[in-house]
Amino acid sequence: MNRTPQVDVRRELRREVGFGCPIPGCGIPYLTWHHFDPPWREEQHHRPEGMIALCLTHAGQADANAFESEYLKDLKHSETDREEVRGELTWMRKKVLALVGGNWYYETPVILKIGATDAISFSRDDEGYLLLSLRMPTLSGLPRAQIVENFFTVGRDQVSDIECAARGRTIKIEYSNGDRFLQEYRDMADEDSLRSRYGDLVGSGPVNESIEFPLTVVEVSEQTKDSRLDFDPLSTRIGGMQMSGCWSIRNGVGVHFDVPPDVEKRFFPVN
Ligand SMILES: [Zn+2]
Repeated sequence: MNRTPQVDVRRELRREVGFGCPIPGCGIPYLTWHHFDPPWREEQHHRPEGMIALCLTHAGQADANAFESEYLKDLKHSETDREEVRGELTWMRKKVLALVGGNWYYETPVILKIGATDAISFSRDDEGYLLLSLRMPTLSGLPRAQIVENFFTVGRDQVSDIECAARGRTIKIEYSNGDRFLQEYRDMADEDSLRSRYGDLVGSGPVNESIEFPLTVVEVSEQTKDSRLDFDPLSTRIGGMQMSGCWSIRNGVGVHFDVPPDVEKRFFPVN
């Protein structure tokens, strides 16, 4: 039996703790699955009532018996009072190839601009590591997830699930109105590994010589419900236009969706 429980159990355990580690003062959204009643070494089971979602640090402490069963049971049902979920993207890389809505962006600081808002962009820190910033567009009227130079915050309005892989590779956010966001890192050793993973999206000829391997691909997809703006994993749709497998290398702005200020305000409601 695998120690990681199936999807529906993980979802329930995340929801119980409000999508962040419930140990007081922690709140880290990178969660792992701790078995305590009974512990895994006594019985291999995936019964959610005997499990709790904890961050890696606190799961390690729990494995060493730092917390009594009763305490963990109480934590499972204590309403968390945090207003938003906060976390940090932990993969620090200097060479990042972004795959956003099925199109490639390399050394392109602003990938998506909507009106005057940089909706997806990169900057570099003092050591040259790339930092991702993102504002998720919506027509729900409620604020959506934001990433500011690798620090993300997700308000709780309408959130139906937040899934952050324990090692920081993936962030997946789902809203009850259908808005969605997914971000995932993958290391690519060479062009062959890029091709075997992404197939037709890479295109038939050799990739541009300015792209140096090894590098890290960051995949971003997002869907804005009721809008004509959709960045699914294989293609980008804006209005009636669809694009897929395009390369944007060393451009200032990848895609600029020019909208009037009132529409821009609707896409990015503030708290
Ligand atoms: Zn913790």
